[in-house]
Amino acid sequence: MMKADLLVRGADVVTPGGVVRADVAVKGGRIAGLFAGEMSPSADETIEAQGLVLLPGGVDTHTHLREPGFTHKEDIESGTRTAAAGGYTTVSGMPNVQPVTTTVQRYLDVIEAYKRSSLVDFNHNPSPTNLSEIKGLAEAGALGFKIFMITDKGADYPHMPELGVHHQGQLFEIAEEVAKTGIPLMVHPNNQQLIETLSERALKVGDTSYQTVARLSASYDGIVFDSAISYLCRMQEVLGFHLHVLHVRSPRSMEVLRAAKAKKQAVTVETNPHMLFLCDDWNEIERLGPYALNLWNGPNTTKMLWDSLRDGTIDVIGSDHAPHLREEKEIGWTDMFAAANGTPKIQETLPLFLDKLNQGEISWTRLAEVFSSTPAKTFGLYPRKGAIQVGSDADMVLVDPRQEQVLRNEDMLSKCGWTSWDGRKVVGAVKHTLVRGAFVYRDGKVVGKPGHGQHLKPQRPEGA
Ligand SMILES: [Zn+2]
Repeated sequence: MMKADLLVRGADVVTPGGVVRADVAVKGGRIAGLFAGEMSPSADETIEAQGLVLLPGGVDTHTHLREPGFTHKEDIESGTRTAAAGGYTTVSGMPNVQPVTTTVQRYLDVIEAYKRSSLVDFNHNPSPTNLSEIKGLAEAGALGFKIFMITDKGADYPHMPELGVHHQGQLFEIAEEVAKTGIPLMVHPNNQQLIETLSERALKVGDTSYQTVARLSASYDGIVFDSAISYLCRMQEVLGFHLHVLHVRSPRSMEVLRAAKAKKQAVTVETNPHMLFLCDDWNEIERLGPYALNLWNGPNTTKMLWDSLRDGTIDVIGSDHAPHLREEKEIGWTDMFAAANGTPKIQETLPLFLDKLNQGEISWTRLAEVFSSTPAKTFGLYPRKGAIQVGSDADMVLVDPRQEQVLRNEDMLSKCGWTSWDGRKVVGAVKHTLVRGAFVYRDGKVVGKPGHGQHLKPQRPEGA
């Protein structure tokens, strides 16, 4: 019998086929065997994991690590340390860095920075605003292409004017070109003209309150958002690209997306932890002001979102980890239009989900799907990533589902040093995180080394 490098003994293992109590053997960075009720091999190191649950490591295809350009907020090393503490083993960054990632050369420069600094495996999602760069970006290994249909009113970051695509014809031509690559087009949906008109109305009467800004995009039953998603789905139907819709939160857009999926359109749906744990609660918006983001989901969304997560309409949870310093947020108490948009989340997401799992809102297998296997499948990383099965990379997170903890600002590893959930008591905690069999987080400490992460090129679809 082989000798393993590592044996994780006696955990409840969340596999693609369900939860099984098993010993998991790791050799050469890969999962070498699962042993349930049979003799497991000896190993150089054994982790006793009785009472713990072993999940596939998180695959976060939507992370803002702020490097290059905004490293006072976060950098690749600090961001991936935070990811490791949150149970994530793969991250993919977004193009709103400086310089913006719109060319092959800039993409390759970002990848070089990750190679030096990342603790976990990685990729990056460039912006396809330069039509002539799209093919080259795909060949260089881009995971997804990211479009912002939004530019901020009153601020030029994080939704930078040079990345905003508001013209429907321009968006159409981008989607046509991206279709040829087979790589998903990730879109932040927004009707820019409408939100500008609604914003102008508030500004005209001098109303820059965070309450007003939070209500804006949910106003008129979410039409700002829904109208963009309707166009995207129709465009997908005629152009055939893989559409990955980000930040989904409104009832009408969920209906449109559900219908598109029922027609077998190549549409995948992402929502984010703030939609499920923060922006669904008006009291939290009032209490936290700029630290709760600049949006409210609108009424009657929470149950709809959880139902959509369980029934498979929502495919993926992206952390949308988007740190900003307190100084960049504080202005939001008086002028929310000027405050930086985004909140940190990558360390908090899994504990928040474990807490909901304990309340019966989601099962272990569904959690493993939205947190790991479906993002890996959607972006061409499966089965190397996203599953605890023989032959896959040994990317795993061992969690204690019964450990109570209070999320606190002082325990956050992000450079920004705060969390929207400061003081939130949750049941469930991350114990250890392993990337290709190596501990990157162990018993409350980051032990991974910068440079451990590898660039993950997606497997391109046939013929693309
Ligand atoms: Zn984002």
